[in-house]
Amino acid sequence: MAGAGNDAPAQTGGGGGKKPSKPATASARSELQQFLYDNAASRTTIQREGTSYVANDKDQLDTVKKTIAYVTNPTSTLVLVNKKRELDSGYVPPDLVKAPVEFSFSGDSPKQQMRKVAAEALGKLFAGAKEDGIELKAVSGYRSYASQQSIFNAYAKTHGAKEANTFSAHPGQSEHQTGLAMDVSSSSVHYGLEQSYGGTKEGKWLAAHAAEYGFIIRYEKEHEDETGYMYEPWHLRYVGVTVAKEIAQLGLTLEAYLARF
Ligand SMILES: [Zn+2]
Repeated sequence: MAGAGNDAPAQTGGGGGKKPSKPATASARSELQQFLYDNAASRTTIQREGTSYVANDKDQLDTVKKTIAYVTNPTSTLVLVNKKRELDSGYVPPDLVKAPVEFSFSGDSPKQQMRKVAAEALGKLFAGAKEDGIELKAVSGYRSYASQQSIFNAYAKTHGAKEANTFSAHPGQSEHQTGLAMDVSSSSVHYGLEQSYGGTKEGKWLAAHAAEYGFIIRYEKEHEDETGYMYEPWHLRYVGVTVAKEIAQLGLTLEAYLARF
């Protein structure tokens, strides 16, 4: 029952590794069921007025005031953030730490950070990959609202705001603001973030093993209509081992999974 009362039930089964997880006890099962119920998609937003980002007539990013669905469980490991469910502009995860992994760049940057639980799990995933002869580097983790805003604005200027929204998120709509996401890559694609990564041995290893460490490939090829984003074989999202394994086994998006409870 360690960690009961926060987001711990999703990590039941330990920090990964190759050992099969122990069967849940009856009480652990009900704790997990309660956690899933509390974090269901239908129960975790509130409608209120805020700043929304839209394409203007020059197809660049503009702002309007409108009613937005804000997530009410931003610190949960199961928080669902997408084009319909936003994080408040002031939300900063409470326990960001530098992930204990190698990065594709040198020097210190806020994007090396994740929430503590996710950072520790990523460290284990990288260690597991190394044991299997798979070389990974982390490219981009935590991103503040303001940072996402400047990234999206830059893409909107070069690609147009509508096209940019298929591969980059409006501020408030990026999973990177949760501190639970990390983009990873390998030398096989020169540490780029590109779809061909899914066909490399590293990308295949991630797809096969990420769930053992509590991560899902958040934006899958067959589910672009559900997630609103193109396939991103590099984008790992922490949800905890139990939920990650279930999502992988069922072949669901996080959207579809959290709609079941
Ligand atoms: Zn990403």
